[in-house]
Amino acid sequence: MAKNKTPHKSQHSDQAKKTYQTIVVGGGLAGLAAAFALATNGLKVAHLAPTPPPDSRTSALMTPSVKIMQDLGLINDPGKIGVPLEKIRIIDATNRLIRAPEALFHSSEVGEIAFGWNFANSKLSKQFAPLLKGQKNLDHIAESAIQMTRSGENWDLQLSDNTFISAPLIVGADGKSSFVRQSVDISIKQTMHKQSALVCDLTLSRPLEGESVEYHYPNGPFTLVPAGGNKANLVWVDNGDILEDVKKLPSAEIVKILQEQSQNLFGNLTLDTGVFVFPLSSHHAQNMGCNGVVLVGESGHAFPPIGAQGLNLSLRDVKDLVTCIRQNPPESQKSAANWANKVANAYDNCRAGDIRRTSTMVDTLFKSLLSEILPAQALRTGGIWALKSIPPLRKHAFRLGMGSA
Ligand SMILES: Cc1cc2nc3c(=O)[nH]c(=O)nc-3n(C[C@H](O)[C@H](O)[C@H](O)COP(=O)(O)OP(=O)(O)OC[C@H]3O[C@@H](n4cnc5c(N)ncnc54)[C@H](O)[C@@H]3O)c2cc1C
Repeated sequence: MAKNKTPHKSQHSDQAKKTYQTIVVGGGLAGLAAAFALATNGLKVAHLAPTPPPDSRTSALMTPSVKIMQDLGLINDPGKIGVPLEKIRIIDATNRLIRAPEALFHSSEVGEIAFGWNFANSKLSKQFAPLLKGQKNLDHIAESAIQMTRSGENWDLQLSDNTFISAPLIVGADGKSSFVRQSVDISIKQTMHKQSALVCDLTLSRPLEGESVEYHYPNGPFTLVPAGGNKANLVWVDNGDILEDVKKLPSAEIVKILQEQSQNLFGNLTLDTGVFVFPLSSHHAQNMGCNGVVLVGESGHAFPPIGAQGLNLSLRDVKDLVTCIRQNPPESQKSAANWANKVANAYDNCRAGDIRRTSTMVDTLFKSLLSEILPAQALRTGGIWALKSIPPLRKHAFRLGMGSA
């Protein structure tokens, strides 16, 4: 991968090269949402999206994020492809000296019919992708970006088929190891966790009835998320080597372990899919925009799936990017490069606070869940007691978790 610290004249100016106002790099959910939102806001967009591998993850998207998708025109009725999350039950499954009480929280307490909806990522992609095809000012290109160089007003991108495209504004939505982020030398602060997350789909003997059930074990939470009827999506955070060993077991053995972990509360379980293990890491970029380049989604921030924040934060990235473009339309600046720089700087300012707050919240939550230190356990237990017994605090905490505080 070529880096480009100093903008220099492109070596391939004589080659045919299509120019856009913006190029969105990445066909994950953040990239799909960004490409669609920018095209519907009038920009001429290239969406660089090689076909991604199947995504076995599910995403709990909070009510404010669902509203963002509705406002952007990405979905109408969330109930058509998602399942409402009406209640959250927390069960302390540790043998610690200081244990938290079991707690059940209802979305009605924050005046909502649901905290959010649980969506299969594959269903969201299937919902978003056809919408992009209908946009006249959006070209979908199923190639990867392999080189990024500065050429006058624009960034030139060399693609995996050795063609070139260019634009003044580049949106890096290309995931954790972002090529775009590395090409412009935006550094990240990263922590690799020893935990991974195991995900699979299950059928339970009785329905979760809109309740997300979180068992807090010493190495991380084991969460059953309602997926409609007797179906559930499991997100189990534990030490990576333990989960890799579980993954290798025959299905019957895996089911036995999952049944024990769920304390047999949901009777016999059936495994509906394979099990997938995701190594966990956290990072946030030193800035989210500069020099005509912006980062959205996991190219700019990633966390363990605790408190379901990753894609929620990415949708807020897209919403703020649209706001910055509306406030700084291309015709408001003398040159395309000035416009792209202005958007990138405005976006960086706009996103800094939310990303810092969310990263700190997830980090604190993750540490408090795993901590073997007595004062930390006492604090966490006290926190859950306080949430259980002080309604205004509970409301505030849930608003914060939903991204609307
Ligand atoms: C187990 C688990 C559970 C989760 N649960 C939740 C949840 O409940 N709620 C929530 O909000 N979030 C959740 N998340 C987080 C959420 O899934 C991610 O934040 C989100 O899917 C990331 O989307 P993305 O588009 O930023 O990245 P990705 O999905 O990684 O997409 C990046 C895309 O960029 C493409 N790409 C890479 N390099 C290039 C290149 N050079 N050129 C072109 N394309 C390129 C890749 O092919 C890929 O398609 C969870 C994550 C995990 C691991």
